[in-house]
Amino acid sequence: MKRIGVLTSGGDAPGMNAAIRAVTRTAIAAGFDVFGIRRGYAGLLAAELVPLDARAVGGIIERGGTTLGSARCPEFLTDEGRCAAVVSVESHRLDALVIIGGNGSQAGAYALSKLGVPVVGVASTIDNDLAGSEITIGVDTALNIALEAIDRLKTTAASHHRAFLVEVMGRHCGYLALMAGIAGGAEVVAIPEQPCEPEAIAQELKAAYERGKSHAIGVVAEGAKYRAADIAAHFREHHERIGFDLRVTALGHVQRGGAPGAFDRLLATRLGAGAVDALVRGRTGVLVGLLRGEVATTPLADVAGVTKPLDLRLMDLARVLAR
Ligand code: ADP
Repeated sequence: MKRIGVLTSGGDAPGMNAAIRAVTRTAIAAGFDVFGIRRGYAGLLAAELVPLDARAVGGIIERGGTTLGSARCPEFLTDEGRCAAVVSVESHRLDALVIIGGNGSQAGAYALSKLGVPVVGVASTIDNDLAGSEITIGVDTALNIALEAIDRLKTTAASHHRAFLVEVMGRHCGYLALMAGIAGGAEVVAIPEQPCEPEAIAQELKAAYERGKSHAIGVVAEGAKYRAADIAAHFREHHERIGFDLRVTALGHVQRGGAPGAFDRLLATRLGAGAVDALVRGRTGVLVGLLRGEVATTPLADVAGVTKPLDLRLMDLARVLAR
C-alpha cells in the first residue's frame, strides 16, 4: 500500500481536523503518500484531491469543522455514483480510503468496500448514534456547548420565573438532548425515541412550578415529535396552566461550531492513528471506534444501516433527578 485518500463526509463534527491530522502524520510515518479529498464523496466524484504533507495539517488540531470541507452527496446514493467513485479511486491510484463521518458516511464506506475499495471508517458524528463506537468524535464538544447554553438560560430563567425549552440537535437520535438534559439539570426531556405530546411536557413544567421551582428547563431534540417552537406555540396563550412564562431557544448549528475540547482532540487523534494502524495491518472494510475505552475495529457490515440504541433507562433517571 502506497497512496491513501482521506475525506470527511456528512455533518461536520468538532475534532474532524484532529482526525485528519492524525491520519496524515501517522500515514506519512508509515511510508504512505496522503491525499486529502475535499467535500466528502462529492469531491471524490469531482476528483478534488490535494496532496497532504505533515505541514499541510499544521495548526488545525484546535479548529472546529473540517478543513477538507464536507458535503452531502445524493449522487453517491445511486449505483452509477458509487461506480464513478470507484473509477475515481482507481484513476488516482489510491490504494485505500479513510472515511471520517457518521452513519450515512459509513453506509457509503461499506458500499465502497463491497465494490472492492479498501476503506477504513473513523467514527465521527455529534449524534453518537453510530454502532461500533461507544462515543464518537464531536459529541463531547457539542454536549459542552449545549450545557453552557443551558447553564446561561437557567440563570436568566430563575431571575424571571421562566421556563425555557432549549432545542438541541438530533434529528433521529436523542443522545445529545438526553445527556444535556441530565447534565444540565433539566425538568423535562423530549427525544425522537419516546414521542410525547405537548400536554405531557406542560404537565412536567407545571409540576416543577408547583414544587416551588424558580425556573424550569425542557430540552427538546430537533427530531422529537414536536419542535420546541411548536410546543411553545401550543401554550403561548395558556401559560397560567404551566405557571411559568415559556420561552424557546433553538441552539441550532452553534452546537457544531467552536474548538474541539481535549476529549475530542484526543479521541480523534487515537481513532485517526487507529485507522492507519488498521491499514498497515491490512484490516480494511472496518470502522475504527472506541469500545470499552480502547480503540477497536468493527466490520462495516455490522455498522452500516445500524443505529446505536439509546439507553432509555436514562430517561427515567432524568425524570427522578428533576424532582
Ligand atoms: P452522516 O455521515 O453525518 O450521517 P449523511 O447521512 O448526510 O451524514 O451521509 C453523508 C453522505 O454519505 C450522503 O450524502 C451520501 O453521499 C452518503 N450516504 C449516506 N447514506 C448512504 C447509503 N445508505 N449508501 C451509500 N452512501 C450513503
